[in-house]
Amino acid sequence: MNVPLLDLKTQFQRIQPELMQVIEEVCVQQSFILGPHVEQFERTIATFLGVEHAIGVASGSDALLLSLMELDIQPGDEVLTVPFTFFATTGVMSRLHARPVFVDICADTFNLDATQLAQKITSHTKAILPVHLFGQCADMDAINTVAARHGIPVIEDACQAIGAMQNGTKAGALGHTGCLSFFPSKNLGAFGDGGLITTNNSQAAERLRLMRVHGSRSEYHHHLIGMNSRLDALQAAVLQIKFQYLDDWTTKRQNNAESYRQLFHEHGLTDHVTLPVVADGNTHVYNQFTIRTPKRDDLSAYLTEKSIGNRIYYPVPLHLQECYETLGYHKGDFPFAEQAAQEVLSLPIYPELSSGQLTYVAETIKEFFDQ
Ligand SMILES: *Cc1c(COP(=O)(O)O)cnc(C)c1O
Repeated sequence: MNVPLLDLKTQFQRIQPELMQVIEEVCVQQSFILGPHVEQFERTIATFLGVEHAIGVASGSDALLLSLMELDIQPGDEVLTVPFTFFATTGVMSRLHARPVFVDICADTFNLDATQLAQKITSHTKAILPVHLFGQCADMDAINTVAARHGIPVIEDACQAIGAMQNGTKAGALGHTGCLSFFPSKNLGAFGDGGLITTNNSQAAERLRLMRVHGSRSEYHHHLIGMNSRLDALQAAVLQIKFQYLDDWTTKRQNNAESYRQLFHEHGLTDHVTLPVVADGNTHVYNQFTIRTPKRDDLSAYLTEKSIGNRIYYPVPLHLQECYETLGYHKGDFPFAEQAAQEVLSLPIYPELSSGQLTYVAETIKEFFDQ
């Protein structure tokens, strides 16, 4: 049996006619930049997440970059975040010559350890940027409490967490701004790059709308300095169609996670691997189903040999990346992030997985540990 890590072709085939129709519509209209498709999708997401404003941009990375620009982050400013995330989270800080200041993660959830946050705040700290890794929220109550005490805004990196909830509130509605990505492998994936910023702050929303069009309020009159970063009308139209299925896809991801949990227990695998831990109050949307084991590298090779897709998100924590040598961090600075990088392995969790495929994955992992 073959179990890819992700199967976007099956997803596409099931809704192909609808998608082709809307793509043709945009082509016939020849209206590609902003316009009604983008506006409709922005309203859809704002309603879904329970926020006032949604601003479509070119990617999740740009959503993060524009969020920092909106806060007027300057060279030398410090932004607190985690070392265990995709590079975009801090790459955008570096582009603005701001300094990523890392806070270690919790061993169980892989998310920012809020108990270590306050001690990292200095007079240079201008933002806190927690990541909702793999599809569950960081401890936003605790993070927002520290942030509010110091008057520091919070930007949510919700790129992997569309639809995830904490105590009934959706990711993206828990900070000053929230950043979504529609990269094809995310839970709601475009046919290329796409992103979106959410906020309940009207002034921030207005600035962000200007900033994605070079700060221009009326053509060739530039109110502030921005960039070119829009969600394409074509992508918005595709996303609007796919959005109708998001809740169903999320439920299927959650059901698949539940199946893995049962199968792993039945096979006695919980002595060998740690299953994803869902924190109290969280609803996990499983962009990734990430297990951990000290035998990670051998298990990964074994699964690959048995045609089971698997991936290490992420093998090198950001404080140990070559490009960040100048930040002056060392091995041992963030032990939980470093251990996670050694032990994590993400398994196929996409909605279209069959029960046969789930069973095969669990049985193959049992085989590996029985060797
Ligand atoms: C995907 C992702 C991003 C970046 O999104 P792009 O749309 O690929 O630019 C940022 N942060 C995290 C945690 C991500 O997973």
